[in-house]
Amino acid sequence: MNRQALSQELIKLLGAEKVIADELDLMYYSYDSSFLAKQHRFIPDIVVTPRSTEDVVKVMKYAYEHGIPVTPRGAGTGETCGAVAINGGIVLDMSTWDVIDEVDVPNMQVFVRPGVVHANLNEHLAQYGLFFPPDPGSTRMCTIGGMVANNASGLRAVKYGCTEQYVLGLEVVLPNGEVIITGGMKSRAVKSVSGMNLTKLFVGSEGVLGVITRIRLRVWPKPKARGIVMAVFPVLEDAPKAVLEVYQAGILPSGIEILDDSAIKAINMYRPDINLPAAEAILLFEVDGNPASVDWEGQTIKEIVNRRASQVEWATDPKRMADLWEGRSVVASAAARVRPDGSRVFAGEDISVPLSRVTEVLRGIRGLGEQFGIKVVNYGHIGDGNVHTAPVIDPEIPAEVEQANKLVDAIHRLAIELGGSTTGEHGVGAVRAQYAVAEHGDAVKVMQAIKNAIDPKGIMNPGKLFRLEGEN
Ligand SMILES: Cc1cc2nc3c(=O)[nH]c(=O)nc-3n(C[C@H](O)[C@H](O)[C@H](O)COP(=O)(O)OP(=O)(O)OC[C@H]3O[C@@H](n4cnc5c(N)ncnc54)[C@H](O)[C@@H]3O)c2cc1C
Repeated sequence: MNRQALSQELIKLLGAEKVIADELDLMYYSYDSSFLAKQHRFIPDIVVTPRSTEDVVKVMKYAYEHGIPVTPRGAGTGETCGAVAINGGIVLDMSTWDVIDEVDVPNMQVFVRPGVVHANLNEHLAQYGLFFPPDPGSTRMCTIGGMVANNASGLRAVKYGCTEQYVLGLEVVLPNGEVIITGGMKSRAVKSVSGMNLTKLFVGSEGVLGVITRIRLRVWPKPKARGIVMAVFPVLEDAPKAVLEVYQAGILPSGIEILDDSAIKAINMYRPDINLPAAEAILLFEVDGNPASVDWEGQTIKEIVNRRASQVEWATDPKRMADLWEGRSVVASAAARVRPDGSRVFAGEDISVPLSRVTEVLRGIRGLGEQFGIKVVNYGHIGDGNVHTAPVIDPEIPAEVEQANKLVDAIHRLAIELGGSTTGEHGVGAVRAQYAVAEHGDAVKVMQAIKNAIDPKGIMNPGKLFRLEGEN
């Protein structure tokens, strides 16, 4: 069906104000934040902006009948080409459906529609003394629907976990247009072991099983106090050892971040005023909770890391904490400074390895960077082994792009070899589908069977999450 005819049909179903068919507007939907999307132009045939479950049902029934691919999209901040219609078809832009239905304070839960922006939800919850703990760096842009679909997390996942820990139930429109509710029909119980856990199945399913239209989230009391320990390590190997010693002392910080020497150099080039000490690693431990426990935890961490670090500081003053955190907060922008004509590409950017292998992965990435002639800046969430790698290239030079793709492939394979994962945060999408068998083995066949049962026509976000061996 050509674009004009499809547009007319969808306008009949939803009204003209919810259908986008202008070619220039469609360009906006041809990319997300991934490097892959920058190398190609995946322009959808049409975009619709649903504002109700009924809108989504109408689109899905129509698409199912005609075998048209459908790609759900939140804010498009994903790093994996997940929200991009690589086979064309309809993009469902959920970002305008940004409604907080209800905050159920006595039962510590909230009901939202998928387009609510993460930071806006937390600003709203603050008036009740509550918060939704997962905290992606894209907080001011990404939607709760996108976070649930990607099982997003952030630098406090070490203590608070990922989105999946907070999703109590979902409303989902299946590919054939049927609507199901997971996590109970009218339940407000935060604890239930009834039935197969379909909520967990849809969290992290990256839009390949259905469209999430309503989300029931558990929320937590907002901690009253916070503090930061900054520690400087002349020897990289001492950094993960210090983290382990903190855990062994019975302390679970809310976040533990690492900047390796590549990141320290990049930050000092970008912002000389921050003036981080030269070292192989800097760690930032963040603790939160009630004031007395925060103080005890901070002091104890300081004593523990002092045995290995050349410099340690503990701070609870908000201004000093912000100063200590400044290097970590600018590192993503600073990365490109390591090469005046380069830019950072989002590829191979969030591998995850066991804490005991962090040193190996960081040294390994340095070696791979040298092998492929590409500068790479490393930082991330050492507390859960989630390492961010930032390759810096000139994306206009095809030979460099080719080298970068080889480097990124080697980084992904190194993570698997070290007993880790190709992605600790950003998901699989189209860019990591090729590693599914290497990571999951025969379990991919079970994933495929589930996908076929729910989406027999294969219209939901095709080309994402996994490919069976032999498939392109
Ligand atoms: C600067 C920056 C920092 C980031 N930091 C982090 C971080 O710290 N942690 C982290 O986890 N991620 C991070 N990300 C990646 C990204 O922001 C998150 O994965 C986020 O959850 C994606 O949300 P989104 O609304 O943009 O979703 P999109 O990118 O639009 O979509 C992501 C996936 O979800 C699917 N999807 C979206 N909405 C629905 C729906 N309603 N129903 C079904 N499927 C749906 C899409 O099809 C796609 O597969 C970062 C990205 C940027 C640009």
